[in-house]
Amino acid sequence: MDRLVKNEMKIEFLSKSANEAFARIAVAAFATQLDPTIEEIADIKTSVSEAVTNSIIHAYPNSEGIVRVRAKLYEDEIEIEVSDNGEGIENIEEAKEPLYTTRGNLERSGMGFTIMESFMDSLKVESIVGLGTKITMGKKIKKEKEFSVNTYEIK
Ligand code: ATP
Ligand code: MG
Repeated sequence: MDRLVKNEMKIEFLSKSANEAFARIAVAAFATQLDPTIEEIADIKTSVSEAVTNSIIHAYPNSEGIVRVRAKLYEDEIEIEVSDNGEGIENIEEAKEPLYTTRGNLERSGMGFTIMESFMDSLKVESIVGLGTKITMGKKIKKEKEFSVNTYEIK
């Protein structure tokens, strides 16, 4: 059964490195509707930054293209999609390995996917060589804060 989407947004921008900060801040601002903690927001920002940087650097290495970011808010979760129409990934399993990079010469450390996987609760990578790549990641936003407010007693 599909869960109820509370809100949704979509942005598109050119694969310029200046837009990495724009995307990260836009998603973080949208996510505040779920009342996340500072730590949850930091995890989301870092993961969006890694995914968008990958599209900017790897998908369109010698040209400029479009990067799309879509975010959906559910009751207790944010789902973020980052996609491009770039070169695509030949071997997804290999690309997700820690320290695997095709760009060692560009001072990449090959940790992007590992970071996304550890900071988010789910990560899905879909890619077709020559067509592009889509990353879908989800993070649960905990609701305990409300509970502590409800149980506060005035003495
Ligand atoms: P780092 O993220 O640490 O700077 P990295 O980008 O090489 O280094 P990952 O983010 O883990 O490491 O990505 C691993 C590899 O997967 C990349 O080197 C690249 O070959 C491939 N890749 C990742 N995202 C894309 C994409 N959007 N399009 C094409 N290839 C990609
Ligand atoms: Mg990367």
